Amino acid sequence: MRLLIVEDERRIAELTADAFRAAGFAVDGVATVADGEAAIAATAYDAVVLDLGLPDRDGMSLLADLGRKPERPPVLVLTARDAVEDRVAGLDAGADDYLVKPFAMVELVARVRALLRRPGGALGLRLEAGNVVLDTVGRDVQVAGQTVPLARHELAILEHLMRRLGRVAPKTVLEEKLYGMGEEPASNAVPVHVHHLRRKLMEAHANCAIHTVRGVGYFLESG
Ligand code: CA
Repeated sequence: MRLLIVEDERRIAELTADAFRAAGFAVDGVATVADGEAAIAATAYDAVVLDLGLPDRDGMSLLADLGRKPERPPVLVLTARDAVEDRVAGLDAGADDYLVKPFAMVELVARVRALLRRPGGALGLRLEAGNVVLDTVGRDVQVAGQTVPLARHELAILEHLMRRLGRVAPKTVLEEKLYGMGEEPASNAVPVHVHHLRRKLMEAHANCAIHTVRGVGYFLESG
């Protein structure tokens, strides 16, 4: 898990970083909105802890920038301002949770972990669709209690579709999930993986189906 902390109060930043490192996170710390934007542009963080009172701009502006990204990490906002309107504004701008200063470190770590456990979050959880269960930690798929062996890319596609049950996953997004920078997938790579995945799910009597949206991508429908 990689976490970005955007906080200008050095002592709080250090204590926060220490607490998350002790909890097993990789932590990057910056003290301004500008540095936060640069860090987020360069690195795929799993979560962001964002102070609102920052020296260059209001932390809310970083939140607004993040809000436009399709796959942005969850954001927990820290604020010294215990005003209802700030909270509402923060949640409107796309914060997933907020904590009012002063806070207990254990609570902050617990709240970030809770965000990561949400559907679509990066931490491990059991995804379910009909009689299909995917364990994101064990990298194991079961249909009606029986393990179904899947190739790595097939499992990655299924995980993505299960996290977005009923919503269309564009083929281009699946390609990005599957292939790193510098790897150029064949244009039919994703359809071929989906084809195999479909067959394996069908043979295992899964009661959910992968549908094709022609020219766009795929979605999983739970039976
Ligand atoms: Ca501050």
